[in-house]
Amino acid sequence: MSVETPRLEIHIDRIAQNAAAVISQCGSSGIQVAAVTKVMQAHPALLRALEGSGCVMLADSRIDNLKRVAEAGMGLPTMLLRAPTPCNAPEAVRWADYSLISSRETAEALSGAAGWAGLRHKVVVMVDVGDLREGVWPDRAVDVVAGIAHLPHLEVAGLGTNLACFGGVVPTREKMEMLTGIRDECRSVTGHPLELVSGGNSANLPLLASGDMPDGINHLRIGEAIVLGRNVLDRSPWPGTRQDTVGLVAGVIELQRKPSVPVGETGQDAFGNTTHFTDRGLRLRAICDIGRQDVAPEAIEPIDPGIEVLGASSDHLIIDVTDARSPVAVGSEVRFLPSYGGLLSASTSPHIRKQAVRRH
Ligand SMILES: *Cc1c(COP(=O)(O)O)cnc(C)c1O
Repeated sequence: MSVETPRLEIHIDRIAQNAAAVISQCGSSGIQVAAVTKVMQAHPALLRALEGSGCVMLADSRIDNLKRVAEAGMGLPTMLLRAPTPCNAPEAVRWADYSLISSRETAEALSGAAGWAGLRHKVVVMVDVGDLREGVWPDRAVDVVAGIAHLPHLEVAGLGTNLACFGGVVPTREKMEMLTGIRDECRSVTGHPLELVSGGNSANLPLLASGDMPDGINHLRIGEAIVLGRNVLDRSPWPGTRQDTVGLVAGVIELQRKPSVPVGETGQDAFGNTTHFTDRGLRLRAICDIGRQDVAPEAIEPIDPGIEVLGASSDHLIIDVTDARSPVAVGSEVRFLPSYGGLLSASTSPHIRKQAVRRH
């Protein structure tokens, strides 16, 4: 019997294979991996896939997701990727072993919260080497590290940076050497070992593969390359991984031959956009049971190369199935592969069931 639509089919063995490939590539350069779970809200199926993968930590940007990691009993340290607000420090120290931070206020709040909880919390101070998302500006790094190094319930485990997220800045040997240089400086000023040097995310893998990663980098935080098997600099398949790890399955609720251009005077669509249509004559069109509320239509790709996504409103996805390779009918299922953004939103939608698939 088929399962209800819409649903995400999470292929545990395929993600496990990707994790093994990426983590061993990192391991052979002396780099440990924190597997990043946020794109799937730390779903238990993803956690199963990461079990025994060789990752040394599980990392997520949301405290709620780290709670799920704790509930799964993975027995690995956890890392909070997005700095908590000072108010959320008690939750952060409860659910995360490490936090990535960039403010003294946050460090003080975390130390205070850790003291109350009878814990010692580890922080990684983020340095912005150019991408303009989180991190202290390089000329302030020594001050910040020296300013928090004495906090009683905190251990400054090391330094980190993040690239290719906001500014699209590509990780290079120079950027990585900047980070290790700042670490050396902070080490000599504070006397703290600052052992952990977390060089970035999936976008660092091409640099690693090229053999140009400096020795001082010993940690990366990897999400997309494991979950979707992509080189995030150009979205090409990453060597040794597969891309069909998570399928989005929608059900067909209507199938009709209709003109390709709306009939009548046109104004704005449901989202305030003025749309333009090319006349391709009569086309066979299907409506699927997902919409913008679940996923942006640009963020999914039909597996059948003959199917084209035309657009979506909140709850209706319109596809052209005139050239579909396999027959489409009312009640049949259409499969898509989501992009990172598509998987992020589909995972978050309460209307989409999540189904773990063990083997295929
Ligand atoms: C999301 C995130 C990552 C993982 O990014 P991927 O591109 O999915 O590998 C790493 N570090 C931080 C700080 C993040 O927010």
